[in-house]
Amino acid sequence: MNFLEERIIKDGVVKEGNILKVDSFLNHQLDVELFDQMGAEWAKRFEGVEINKILTIEASGIGIACVAARHFNVPVVFAKKSQSVNLDGEMYTAEVESFTHKNKNNVIVSKKFLNENDKVLIIDDFLANGCALQGLISIINSAGASVAGIGIAIEKGFQSGGQIIRNLGYKLESLAIVDGMNPETGKINFRN
Ligand code: 5GP
Repeated sequence: MNFLEERIIKDGVVKEGNILKVDSFLNHQLDVELFDQMGAEWAKRFEGVEINKILTIEASGIGIACVAARHFNVPVVFAKKSQSVNLDGEMYTAEVESFTHKNKNNVIVSKKFLNENDKVLIIDDFLANGCALQGLISIINSAGASVAGIGIAIEKGFQSGGQIIRNLGYKLESLAIVDGMNPETGKINFRN
């Protein structure tokens, strides 16, 4: 078991509806030391890959991405969630359905901060059905930039996102892949 899997076993709570609650270290109270370890691990896994920018999505991705960025020495851009579409042409936009909140948001990134020269590492906290990732990939494509890789803290391997994203050919590095969890017993199984 790696350091993140151990932490999930220690402090994660399995909720109804396929939700893993990790708000004591990842989603509300933030364990910055753990984020630093995660950043170091991604730096190892993406060694030799050209990356000049990290892209994430608000809110939970921001803290993780910022700490990880210290290991890559690159700036972080985060996609903002917005109810209204900005039509002035200054923004890249994509529609993203939220797994946890069951609503749709437009996510936006200013054209100032993403361009065709960018080689982007996407970082996010969770991968479930992959909607958030597909929105971010679509924004990167709109900018003419390229996806250098994707770093996820916790992938829920029993949902479809991971397979979809890997089938599209992206280098996806999830630090913990949960293959099953039981809300009655609290048991969590990880992929080897
Ligand atoms: P997706 O777009 O891949 O379906 O879902 C990814 C987003 O939903 C993540 O950015 C995360 O915020 C949220 N999410 C999905 N599943 C979980 C979960 O089990 N626990 C928590 N805390 N967030 C989740």
